Amino acid sequence: MPADADAAADAEQAAPAPGAVRLERNAPVKFVFLGPPGAGKGTQAARMAVRFNVQHASTGDMFRKAAAAGSELGRTVKDYLDSGRLVPDELTSRVVEELVLDAGDGYILDGYPRTLGQAEALAANLERRGLRLDGVVYFDLSDQEAVRRLTGRLVCSGCGRNYHREFMPPKATDVCDDCGAALRVRSDSAEDVVRQRLAVYHEMTEPLVRYYRDRGLLENVDASAAPDDVERATGALLERLARSEGDR
Ligand code: AMP
Repeated sequence: MPADADAAADAEQAAPAPGAVRLERNAPVKFVFLGPPGAGKGTQAARMAVRFNVQHASTGDMFRKAAAAGSELGRTVKDYLDSGRLVPDELTSRVVEELVLDAGDGYILDGYPRTLGQAEALAANLERRGLRLDGVVYFDLSDQEAVRRLTGRLVCSGCGRNYHREFMPPKATDVCDDCGAALRVRSDSAEDVVRQRLAVYHEMTEPLVRYYRDRGLLENVDASAAPDDVERATGALLERLARSEGDR
């Protein structure tokens, strides 16, 4: 890359996104978003990452991208993704360490940790770095609503944009608004896979609600509301938590 392109890229990274919240604090914000599949964690994490000018770190997206690219990681995780089972803890925590924690910036962890083992690995990792989380947001949603939301998910086979048959339909049936490629049902959105993901969530991930509550880090958001209302509640909550840095 030529020098000015380099400088431009640096400036772009350093400049806060338009509309980003300005916080008088030393460390960049670090949040975990927790909740069942379908709770809208990903949508909210993407919006909050822009608002707080930090990385949106979704392990699901990292794994899906790797699988689509056919990398070694992708070949390893593909069967897990397609069946709704969890990728093993050690591999998942290593990917998060390399792609997120090592960067040393702020982040919203979306879909990680998902087991007590991953939560312990994250806690140990942060402690080694002398860091701590600003909070864990629990997006609360019933199974019935989760199934309704998840089974309608579509993804563009060309650019990867996400849609939903009911909540975010494309303008033309099964065709991407952006690139015109065909939409397909996300491989993890078939009803049996959705049920399997919910069962895995209850067994493996729900214990984290108590884990983080016991550590004084858990905050609840009602995820059954419309996305814009959930966004307002989440934004206000994160600002409060971010401004109380050091109070905990
Ligand atoms: P998501 O998009 O967050 O629902 O993740 C999709 C799939 O990626 C999951 O069903 C798992 O197979 C895998 N995955 C994502 N995050 C994790 C994690 N923290 N631990 C293990 N597997 C994960």
